[in-house]
Amino acid sequence: MDVEMNIFELSRPGREGLSPPPAGVPEKPLDEIIPPAYQRSQLALLPEVSEPQLVRHYTRLSTYNHHVDKAIYPLGSCTMKYNPKINDALAALPGFAFLHPELPEKHCQGALGLMHELSRLLAEIAGVDEVSLQPVAGAQGEMAGLLIIRAYHLERGRRRRKIIIPDSSHGTNPASVTLAGFESVPCKSGADGLVDVKALESLLDDDVAGLMLTNPNTLGLFEKDIQKITAAVHRAGGLVYLDGANLNAMLGLVRPGDMGFDIVHFNLHKTFSTPHGGGGPGGGAVGVKAALAEFLPGPRIVCEKQSGEEYYRREDIGPHSIGRVHTFDGNFAVMVQAYAYIRSLGAEGLRQVAQDAILNANYLASRLVDHYDLPYPGPCQHEFVLSANRQKKQGVRAGAIGKRLLDFGVHAPTVYFPLIVPEALMIEPTETESKESLDHFADILIQIAEEAKTNPDLVNSAPHNTPLARLNEAKAAKDLDLCCKE
Ligand SMILES: *Cc1c(COP(=O)(O)O)cnc(C)c1O
Repeated sequence: MDVEMNIFELSRPGREGLSPPPAGVPEKPLDEIIPPAYQRSQLALLPEVSEPQLVRHYTRLSTYNHHVDKAIYPLGSCTMKYNPKINDALAALPGFAFLHPELPEKHCQGALGLMHELSRLLAEIAGVDEVSLQPVAGAQGEMAGLLIIRAYHLERGRRRRKIIIPDSSHGTNPASVTLAGFESVPCKSGADGLVDVKALESLLDDDVAGLMLTNPNTLGLFEKDIQKITAAVHRAGGLVYLDGANLNAMLGLVRPGDMGFDIVHFNLHKTFSTPHGGGGPGGGAVGVKAALAEFLPGPRIVCEKQSGEEYYRREDIGPHSIGRVHTFDGNFAVMVQAYAYIRSLGAEGLRQVAQDAILNANYLASRLVDHYDLPYPGPCQHEFVLSANRQKKQGVRAGAIGKRLLDFGVHAPTVYFPLIVPEALMIEPTETESKESLDHFADILIQIAEEAKTNPDLVNSAPHNTPLARLNEAKAAKDLDLCCKE
């Protein structure tokens, strides 16, 4: 494939994208507008291209990167589902998109009402009592949740220092624990990939502030002893935090609050369909049980009746709040998309999302299990983790399989994570893929398994069909090493 020229290479002197009509008034000399001392000695170097050249250039570039509007994007733990375009259209309505965050409350009742209602819907979905929409990323929701745990213990007159995290946890968990001033204590998974309750109990003491858990865990397995787990932590005086970044498998089926979780964060940009990847924008709402509501970030949006009408306003939470975690109300457009998504699906639709996500993952796993190792077999939830151990023995590692997939126009799964699976390929198809799409993806992975046996070099030198080929990773690693030492 030819590599696209850059916009300056496309430039031709004198070519224009837009030709405005001549001004109807005499032109003023430049010196009269900008004093000569402030003028550039050299004009800014701008590309000179026509409008169709410009449009085609950026349209071509937009197809170079993989995105979910192009094909399946089975990036485990990231929930790269298709995002209905109606959500974008609603978030772009001028009444939402052009709102100024300093607008007096009486002039933005619709936006405040939407945020209030969204927080009520999320509370209902997760089985918690209060939700703050302020955090703008999953990791920031984690941070807020952990600060709430800290505030809770301090309020009870005792600083507790440790947070227990299973060894299969998402990388942001130990990072957030450290940032919030705790020490993370890893808890080993059992042979079945689930939390080993005995191992957990042996770690519990009066210095444990809480347990931070992902359920379904990063292996895509549901913690079947979840009620025993949450009860054990509560007996030791700790709180239980759910990393709810991936609620896809739970929507309408089970509720974290009913399992005994005290705090949960949501990734609005994953479960609730905001296009993401590449770093944002996101929504990391955090929800808590009633006893912890006083610690939530503030202000919160409350609804009251004023002469028979609903009136929404921001209210400071009070002296125990962990305070603000973001400017204004957070990422409002992401909230509009989440609200549109939830309201357009309704309760039945949300349940169907979870059922289809689970069905798709299990179907895909069943098609692949003869061709790749599945170290933790059995029914999975919204994702599953294969191991390319068998292929490694043939000289092909998980990363090479990911790169070879790009040749077929599909995205690679998450590789080398979670750490407890060697040569991990973590696959989350999501509910928005059809059976044909799942079969297409399975056929490709099966073909690559075959290639690993018969022609490992083909896989190891992939990708072959992408605009840019493989980086010289050994050199890149060395350069990085050098630049880090400097
Ligand atoms: C994505 C993810 C996070 C972090 O969310 P960000 O919005 O990327 O900060 C945390 N935990 C799990 C399990 C995730 O999948």
